[in-house]
Amino acid sequence: MDGVLDHLKLYRLPWTLPDNAISWLEPTTSCNLHCEGCYRKNEPEGHKPLDTVRQELELFNRVRRTDGVSIAGGDPLMHPDIERIVSMVAEMGQKPIINTNGLALTPDKLKALKQAGAAGFTFHIDSGQHRPRMKGRTEVELNELRLEYARMLADVGGLACAFNATVYDHTLKSVPDVVAWGQEHIDIVHTLVFIAYRAFPRFEGYDYLVGGEKVDIGRLAYETQTDRRGILSTDIVAEIRKRFPDFAPSAYLNGTERPDDFKWLLTMRVGTKERIYGYLGPKLIEMAQVFHHLVKGSYLAYTSPKLLSRGRSLLLLSPLDRGVARTAGAYLRGVVANPSQAFKPLRMQSVMIIQPADFLENGAMSMCDGCPDMTMHEGRLVWSCRLEELLNYGDWVRPVVAKPPAES
Ligand code: SF4
Repeated sequence: MDGVLDHLKLYRLPWTLPDNAISWLEPTTSCNLHCEGCYRKNEPEGHKPLDTVRQELELFNRVRRTDGVSIAGGDPLMHPDIERIVSMVAEMGQKPIINTNGLALTPDKLKALKQAGAAGFTFHIDSGQHRPRMKGRTEVELNELRLEYARMLADVGGLACAFNATVYDHTLKSVPDVVAWGQEHIDIVHTLVFIAYRAFPRFEGYDYLVGGEKVDIGRLAYETQTDRRGILSTDIVAEIRKRFPDFAPSAYLNGTERPDDFKWLLTMRVGTKERIYGYLGPKLIEMAQVFHHLVKGSYLAYTSPKLLSRGRSLLLLSPLDRGVARTAGAYLRGVVANPSQAFKPLRMQSVMIIQPADFLENGAMSMCDGCPDMTMHEGRLVWSCRLEELLNYGDWVRPVVAKPPAES
């Protein structure tokens, strides 16, 4: 089973620098965990004042249309005024999505955040975190913790529930187990996100320059001494297909350096807890993005849980999308074989695979073209995954192939 995909047969998500699905707000650098794959230096007192947060949100709105704002960090729940920040995002017309490790989330806090306008949560849970009382837990064992959070959100209702996991070489094999777990809980888990681990590699034979001067990249939170180039999103697809052979991504973002890199790779599956009937095709994703933009003026970020539970009505769109037509056929055959299936709600769930910055042989860095996770730094939009370069060196660090010493 392989992860081969033809990018020309998929839908290229329409997201761009000024017109995107989301933006990335970091109200704090403080975090109550230490994750192996984290891009940010943990600074316990690193909370931004509310005025600064407001200014950043206003700047976002001046330069970029978006449907949602990912409120990240650090861990955003560490910020003493997180409820006010959530309500500011909502008042400015965007869906506030809280990206958290969940440690500081209590049922009361959750209710307060929902009241403030939170549209959803993305919980970062994986075995590369140093969670108290979870040491040595495998990805599969962590499904129990994921379920606790999914149930907490379901009890409150109306909130999008997503789970992020960084995928390392040694956890790649567990991805299908998490995908299978997601299916079992398709009623309360709306999105799974797998992020291929990346660090800033210190490769032999390259110099690292800032403004033409060589720098030591040791100050970067995401610098690594290893020379691994990292797994690709297609490696993750290949792994998932070992368990789910039909797994069919339908939309993507390419790399800034290569058109056929899958930097963000979206798959939408349709099914019940017992069975996945099929996958939405590229046309359907295109229609959803374009329709949302026509009606709301921005590209769709997070689909509401209510809409995701309407898988059956979606089948009416079969004439417009091959993926939906195939799903409808499989569903009808399933119902004929077992009529009790007709009484079970048909739901949609998205699986996103992200392949962050890639270091190319010539020293170029291939970023996500149409990066949704752009954040605000000193009045301009910058890649959040490389912000530490600006904070530590004042500019991007540019790897270049080192010149051999001149012969004397
Ligand atoms: S370029 Fe970096 S910040 Fe932007 S989406 Fe890709 S990994 Fe995230």
